Amino acid sequence: MSYRALVTDRDADGKVTSSVQIIDNTRLPDGDVTVDIDWAGLNYKDGLCLTGGGGLVRNYPHIGGIDFAGTVRNSSDPRYKVDDAVLLTGWRVGETHWGGYAERARVHADWLVPLPHGMSTRDVMIVGTAGLTAMLAIDRLEAGGLTPEAGEVLVTGAAGGVGTIATSLLTRLGYHVTALSGRPQHADALRALGAATVIDRTEFLGQPDKPLESARFAAAIDSVGGRVLSKLLRQVKYGGQVASVGNAGGIELSTNVLPFILRGVSLLGIDSVMQPYATRVKAWRRIALTLDLAAYAGLVREIGLEDLPAAAEHILAGEIKGRVLVRPR
Ligand code: NDP
Repeated sequence: MSYRALVTDRDADGKVTSSVQIIDNTRLPDGDVTVDIDWAGLNYKDGLCLTGGGGLVRNYPHIGGIDFAGTVRNSSDPRYKVDDAVLLTGWRVGETHWGGYAERARVHADWLVPLPHGMSTRDVMIVGTAGLTAMLAIDRLEAGGLTPEAGEVLVTGAAGGVGTIATSLLTRLGYHVTALSGRPQHADALRALGAATVIDRTEFLGQPDKPLESARFAAAIDSVGGRVLSKLLRQVKYGGQVASVGNAGGIELSTNVLPFILRGVSLLGIDSVMQPYATRVKAWRRIALTLDLAAYAGLVREIGLEDLPAAAEHILAGEIKGRVLVRPR
């Protein structure tokens, strides 16, 4: 009664490394549902957890993996029974609680979501935390009045996980998507997902900064932060909105009040980690109805547990295209 897992540990010098190990079932953490994991995802935050970055993991040895999907092995919670297909994102699983980089996980039933109708465990991990966050951002922008008629929607960090799924979802919902990417080699893949225009990040940042710049975008979904967010805020049209999702390019934000007081621009914060159950279920249902998984197939790469340490370095360096799926078995 044991299972394979990628165990992340820190040595006496503070160096964090990971290796595949056999774990006895008795070491599974507290929880009321045990899940046999089919697939886990790789997210920017997983890169941090596997390399000791961001101070996210406090207790070692640790098992990372902030999202996973699989089938229930046993459950003491009446909401879940053996063989139910489930997924998990957020709740700091993979950071403070052992996560999905293993054949098995034990979690609290409150954290799980049943698989949305029509999607497999592989499908939902293609979407993963990245795609859920993209959907939450779109829901929030639409709650603030965004419609396809409003004009161009900018997606930054476009070739990454959040960016590619946001591009795909927005396109399917009828929006005119402009993708901002630092990797021109992926421009064709972004156009194939539906981006009408692809902007090169170096050119975008190279234009001289003014307190207000030509108003262009009706809205934006930003997974980069830093200089990119600072620049795009000056180019949002009257009454427009910006969903701030991530910090792949930095946590700083240098701005001024003019976009807010002269154009009525709104800056909205998006968090996927602590979203209540009902919001998650609603977002997953909309993803299942909207996303064109066939069109996304070329942006998916599969790896095993042993490949994760190298993949973690790649995602932190901004070198991953689309979504990486982890098969623990
Ligand atoms: P990825 O690494 O897949 O995508 C990030 C993208 O950002 C890269 O592909 C790259 O896009 C761009 N990028 C990377 N480094 C830089 C840099 N130094 N300067 C400018 N652009 C850069 O990560 P994810 O999509 O998984 O996550 C994106 C961000 O969103 C992360 O910060 C993550 O923590 C955050 N996030 C937040 C969530 C929430 O709940 N708020 C949930 C999920 C993610 P390109 O090559 O196209 O320029």
